[in-house]
Amino acid sequence: MKIGVYFCKCGTNISDRIDPQKVMEEITKLKDVAYFETVDFLCAEEGKEFLEKDLKKKKPMRVVIGACSPRDHEKTFMNVLSKAAINPYLMQMVNIREHVAWVISDICKASDKASAYLKGAVARVQLHEPLKPEELNVCPDVLVIGAGPAGLKASLSLTEAGRKVVLVEKNPVIGGMPVRYEEIFPNMECGPCMLEPMLGDVLHGDNSENIELLTLSEVVEVAGYLGNFIVKIKQLPRYVNPEKCIGCRECIEPCPVSAKNEFNCSLDERKAISFAFSGGLPNFPFIDDEVCLRTKGENCRLCEDACIVDDAINFDDKKKVIERNVGAIIVAVGAELYDCSNLTNLGYGKLPNIYTSLEFERIIASNGPTEGEIQGFGKNGPRSIAIIHCAGSLDKNHIKYCSGTCCQSAFKFNQFISKKLPNTKIFHFFKEISVPGKETFQLYNKALNNPDSLFIRYRNINEIDVSIENGRLAIHYSFSSGKRCKSTADMIILCPPIIPSSDTAELGSILEIPADRYGFFEELHNRVDSVQSKLKGVYLTGSCQSPMDIQNAMNQGLAASGYILSGLPEGKKLEIEPIIASVDEERCSGCRVCILVCPYKAIDFDEEKAKATTNSVLCQGCGTCVAACPAGVIKGNHFTAEELLAEIQGVLT
Ligand SMILES: Cc1cc2nc3c(=O)[nH]c(=O)nc-3n(C[C@H](O)[C@H](O)[C@H](O)COP(=O)(O)OP(=O)(O)OC[C@H]3O[C@@H](n4cnc5c(N)ncnc54)[C@H](O)[C@@H]3O)c2cc1C
Repeated sequence: MKIGVYFCKCGTNISDRIDPQKVMEEITKLKDVAYFETVDFLCAEEGKEFLEKDLKKKKPMRVVIGACSPRDHEKTFMNVLSKAAINPYLMQMVNIREHVAWVISDICKASDKASAYLKGAVARVQLHEPLKPEELNVCPDVLVIGAGPAGLKASLSLTEAGRKVVLVEKNPVIGGMPVRYEEIFPNMECGPCMLEPMLGDVLHGDNSENIELLTLSEVVEVAGYLGNFIVKIKQLPRYVNPEKCIGCRECIEPCPVSAKNEFNCSLDERKAISFAFSGGLPNFPFIDDEVCLRTKGENCRLCEDACIVDDAINFDDKKKVIERNVGAIIVAVGAELYDCSNLTNLGYGKLPNIYTSLEFERIIASNGPTEGEIQGFGKNGPRSIAIIHCAGSLDKNHIKYCSGTCCQSAFKFNQFISKKLPNTKIFHFFKEISVPGKETFQLYNKALNNPDSLFIRYRNINEIDVSIENGRLAIHYSFSSGKRCKSTADMIILCPPIIPSSDTAELGSILEIPADRYGFFEELHNRVDSVQSKLKGVYLTGSCQSPMDIQNAMNQGLAASGYILSGLPEGKKLEIEPIIASVDEERCSGCRVCILVCPYKAIDFDEEKAKATTNSVLCQGCGTCVAACPAGVIKGNHFTAEELLAEIQGVLT
């Protein structure tokens, strides 16, 4: 066999530590090595040009390149081989820079080690097979789970590029958390107004025909892989026909039953037929099965009787399971707040006038339970409001991390309270202040310069005790010096950390994507690839990946759609890397050990044949199944047992 060996000096990086002459003398002794070329910089334009010309002239059957890490330039040299009409998998690259030159100071030892590595490569490359990437037809449609800022932004940018989106939202309304905020930090814009244009675009914008919006829906099953997922979605009946309903609200008043309104954090009640909150979109009501008298066997038709449009109420509506084929999935299911009743010393849930930040958002919202009025303190409102930051964050007994947005909410409340109730004192009880970014720091400065604000740094949340004294809330706390002190307030707002939503674990197991140590969906890489999950074709956006503000949630939605538009191009075929595993069906005993060990869920079991089969799209070629198969019938392309043994033997000769 004619093998060509190329030795890159990498300037002086390699040649200062490894003697090319000595290595050449060793390697050219090998029977199959036809020639040995030394090059200054093989990755430079000149080096690549030389390599291409030399390969075309000498026509080797196999190529060995001794240079830097394959992570840096394996693809570069494979491309040169292709240009020279040589199958790129007939090359073996050896890392003589990081693995040898940079770690061994003795030039003799380094030259011997480089020679040994190259001998291994010469032995194994003879067994290389010409491999070819597989091509796959892909479905360009996208499933977006969750219609908050992240999911909406992703859906709109995808449909703007002509893609079809199936947008699944478990609530009856879209917009996520921010449609429930009266004002949005840092610029104190009206929350519903800021999102309304996006919601309008989803419902009836230029590209809305490309969005299939499924409200009251959840994903229950996912099978398949990048380019070809089959998804099952469970949709609860709404009992209201969106084609007919005009959103006039005539049906609400006559309904005889009520329940706590979860959209207002259970601070008020709603009817069995209701709108989540006024202004919520899409603008038609839903009937809550759990509350409606009809599900309790009664023949109540009061909402239908009151309805001014024929057939807008549809009691025959049924739960459905809808199946869709998509090429990629964007997860945008948001997060929730840490339960403040875990901090028993703060009195939440036991004492009056103590609210979480989200509850306070609803209290001050004009579409909230009190239409924006802070009630119960006479016309001048409360004399003082205490805002307790880090209610459970940065605490080893509760949540260890900082959510990075709670301080901003607290300062948003500061501005709001001062505007609405100018004489109210505002205490900020804080442990740390976190206000990154150019705009948010100004929000902090405004609160700091507000003459009605008082900032108090407490030592530990567990040392705060809230009780009722003389009809007001008494807050006993310790300064960082340990000195105990007391303040009184009429109302307390707790700012708890943002934690993964209760759905995360179940959805994670349906999608087969892992969670990080805090329970958020785990990204592929937290700096370089925070939008990709560990599973190809499933992307993570918004606060289900990590606590974040609306700006970042929207940016992640946009990033995920960018990944899909570039990585899953419409009409194009997907190229699949051929260095993957394959099962010899004839010899497979069907023991399923490979299925248990595969970290990428890339092996299925064919029940009919009782054999394991690998999925070339999901397989990452890690070789775990190859090593685990007790019958040795799984082959890892490019890493066969024969190739590995030959390499070891080559190194040892
Ligand atoms: C009290 C408070 C105030 C805040 N104020 C501001 C502010 O003023 N400015 C700012 O920039 N940020 C603010 N934030 C942060 C802001 O809420 C988040 O950045 C934003 O909500 C993240 O958007 P998202 O799309 O990731 O998630 P979300 O807004 O939570 O949307 C997620 C959507 O997914 C749906 N969903 C959940 N589970 C499923 C499921 N299994 N299937 C289908 N759908 C599902 C939900 O119903 C929801 O519609 C605040 C946060 C809090 C807690």
